[in-house]
Amino acid sequence: MHVVTVWVSHKTLAAAKEEACYHYPLETGGTLVGYWSDADTVVVTRLIGPGPASIHGRYSFEHDHEWEAAQIADHYYQSARSQVYIGDWHTHPDASSGELSGTDRRAIRRVINYPEARVAYPLMMVLFGGPEEWKSTIWAAELKPRWPWGSRLSIDAAKLHMFE
Ligand SMILES: [Zn+2]
Repeated sequence: MHVVTVWVSHKTLAAAKEEACYHYPLETGGTLVGYWSDADTVVVTRLIGPGPASIHGRYSFEHDHEWEAAQIADHYYQSARSQVYIGDWHTHPDASSGELSGTDRRAIRRVINYPEARVAYPLMMVLFGGPEEWKSTIWAAELKPRWPWGSRLSIDAAKLHMFE
C-alpha cells in the first residue's frame, strides 16, 4: 500500500477550522495547494477557501471551480511554478467520522480523470465535527489498473503531520 504523508501547518489547519465554523452547520470547502517533496510526501502550503459561486448545503458542497482555478494559477506563478493543485478539502458538519461519501469518491475519480489537472494522487481532506471540535482526516487516491481492463479507485488514509 502506498502510504502518503501530508505535512500541514497549524496555521493552515486553523484557517480551515475557522472557515468550517463560519458556514456551520452547512458544508464548506475549497482547494489545497502545495508540492510533493518525494513520491510519498506532500506539503500543503496554502488552503484556498470557497469561491463566491460555491453552493453550501447541509449535506453537500459544490466548488466554485472557476474561481478556485484562478486562485491556483495565481499561487503557481507567485511561487515560481513550484506550488500546484494537490487536492480538495471540505467539511462534514456534525459527522462522527471523516469517511468519504459516495459523492466524494465520484469527485475524486473526476479529478483523476481530468487530464488537464495532471494529478496522479489527489488528496481529499475532510473536517468533521463542529465548532466545539473539528477533527480532520486526509485521504490519498490512486487509480490502479484492473486486469484485464478498466481501473479501480484505491483510496487510503494518509498520515497527517503538523508543523509550525
Ligand atoms: Zn464529503
